[in-house]
Amino acid sequence: MRYREAAVTITDDIAWAAVMRRDRTYDGRFVTGVLTTGIYCRPSCAARHPDRGNVRFFTDCAAARAAGLRACKRCLPDDVGRDEAAVLAAIDEIRNAQDVPSLAVLAELTGYSPTHFQRIFKRAIGLSPASYARALREERARNSLSAGESVTGAIYEAGYGSASRFYEDTKGRLGMTASAWANGGAGVTINWAVVETSMGPMLVAATQKGVCRLSFGEDESELAHRFPKAELVEGGDAFAKLLAEVVASVEAPGDFSHIPLDVKGTAFQEACWDALRAIPPGETRTYSEIAAAAGNAKAVRAAGSANAKNNVAVLIPCHRVVRKGGDLGGYAYGPDIKRELLKRERR
Ligand SMILES: [Zn+2]
Repeated sequence: MRYREAAVTITDDIAWAAVMRRDRTYDGRFVTGVLTTGIYCRPSCAARHPDRGNVRFFTDCAAARAAGLRACKRCLPDDVGRDEAAVLAAIDEIRNAQDVPSLAVLAELTGYSPTHFQRIFKRAIGLSPASYARALREERARNSLSAGESVTGAIYEAGYGSASRFYEDTKGRLGMTASAWANGGAGVTINWAVVETSMGPMLVAATQKGVCRLSFGEDESELAHRFPKAELVEGGDAFAKLLAEVVASVEAPGDFSHIPLDVKGTAFQEACWDALRAIPPGETRTYSEIAAAAGNAKAVRAAGSANAKNNVAVLIPCHRVVRKGGDLGGYAYGPDIKRELLKRERR
């Protein structure tokens, strides 16, 4: 926000340059007195520029009046302080209100007409009051999301009335919609195969960027459910090489950090997944330890949920998380597979 910038010395040259640009950020920081016409203006006044030789700068309106000048009727320089107070009051109102206040409400609060207030607000903030309120809610939702909240929880916490409004508001601006974060994007080709392993049938699916799903006991229908808008292709030459590497690293666990992944989560989920990948084979961690490694020691439940939302079993080794006290804990594909994976890695 440009209001209430720290005071800096404004030389006559800086002031004149601001006047020539009609720079609104200088409104309220000095006024331009025009000696030939006897009026003083905001730096941003839209009227035709006076000759430099006829101009004298004043630090404020009072000083200009003391020099015998009167306020320009076009740019109303005396209202700058009132404008600033109105904008700040409106921001307060928007930030604290349960629902987004209408333009009419904000205008009444500040004593301006709706059209005039909208213009003042936009001049100061660069956004209309409605856009500002929307940006604020997005920011709050995003902050909650990255702390590991569920999408819906984050939406309501940020003051959205409904989930569909959130998707509408954020569509196109967050890159993907919130639902696409969880479900996978459109316009993507996914190659997949189900292969037999010593732990039963294993589904492997990959985009151009890397493995996007590894699971046990699932088939194409699960992919269609998770990536409803993607084009699903069974097999594929380029995919075969990647598939072979994946199978090898499941059957004979070792370092598989070179296998590319294509996963998408909230910032906190991705931090948890990174923390999982950092657990050396043969070792385990608790949920608390994962939460701490992901940067929020208190978010133990969110770490558990990040674990559960892991799309790529084994390669993001969520099986290496156990309960405090050594209990095996849950696993998406059952305790037998988890136990087997851990047993192999201990060797
Ligand atoms: Zn003026």
